[in-house]
Amino acid sequence: MIRFENVTKVYPGNISVLRDVNLRIEPGEFVSFVGPSGAGKSTLLKLIYAEEVPTSGEVFFGDRAISSIKRRLLPYYRRNFGTVFQDFKLLSQRTVFENIAYALEIAGKTTAEIHEEVPQILDIVGLAEKSNTYPRQLSGGEQQRVSLARALIHRPSVLIADEPAGNLDPLSAQEIFRLLTEINNMGTTVLVATHNKSIVDGLKRRVVTIGNGTVVRDEREGKYVV
Ligand code: ADP
Repeated sequence: MIRFENVTKVYPGNISVLRDVNLRIEPGEFVSFVGPSGAGKSTLLKLIYAEEVPTSGEVFFGDRAISSIKRRLLPYYRRNFGTVFQDFKLLSQRTVFENIAYALEIAGKTTAEIHEEVPQILDIVGLAEKSNTYPRQLSGGEQQRVSLARALIHRPSVLIADEPAGNLDPLSAQEIFRLLTEINNMGTTVLVATHNKSIVDGLKRRVVTIGNGTVVRDEREGKYVV
C-alpha cells in the first residue's frame, strides 16, 4: 500500500534526516515508528501524506508515485489520511460535537448527515456523553479522543498519529493506544510515531525503529525482520 524506495530527505541547511530508506507497509497494518526525538519519525510520516517531498528516492501510495501527483490534486490525495498530533488542535469556542461537525460542514455535508455521523464516531471513541462539552472541560486524554474522532470522520483508509500520547499521563496514553488498535481492528491502516517504545511493545504489532536516518530494526510480534 505504501512503499519507500531509497528515500533520502535533507532539509535546507544541509540537515540530513533520512538516508536511503526502504520500507513496505501493507493495507490494514498497524506500524509504530519509534526512535529518539529528532530521529526523523515525523518527517517519514510527512512524506507519506505529502507534507514534505523526498530529496531523492520515491514514496509510492498504491502504485502511484506521490511526487507525480499535481499540486492542485494533493487535497484529494490527502483525503486518504486522517491525522492526529501531540497538540490536539481543537477549536476552544466549539463543543465536542461542533469540533467534529466542522470538518463535515467544510466537506459540504447536510445537517441531517452531520447529525447521523457525528454521534456514530463519538461512540467509537467512547465520548457519546460529552457531545455538548467544551474542550477545556475535558481531560487531555478525552481531548485527544475528540481529535481522533475528527480524524476518522471522513473514514480515511490510513490514520496517521504523530506522538498522539506525547502530552498525556501514562494511563491516558494507554487508552489512546488501545483505541488506535481498535480502530485498526475495524480495518484502518494505522501509522504511529512515538518515542515511547515500551507502550508499543505491549501492542504486539509491527515496530520500526528509526536511528541514524534509517531503519535500524523492523520487528513483528517480537521477531526481527531487519
Ligand atoms: P522526530 O519526529 O523523530 O522527532 P523529525 O522528523 O521531527 O524527528 O525531525 C528530524 C530532524 O529534522 C530534526 O533534527 C529536526 O530539527 C529537523 N527538521 C524537521 N523539520 C525541519 C524543517 N522543516 N527544516 C529544517 N529541519 C527540520
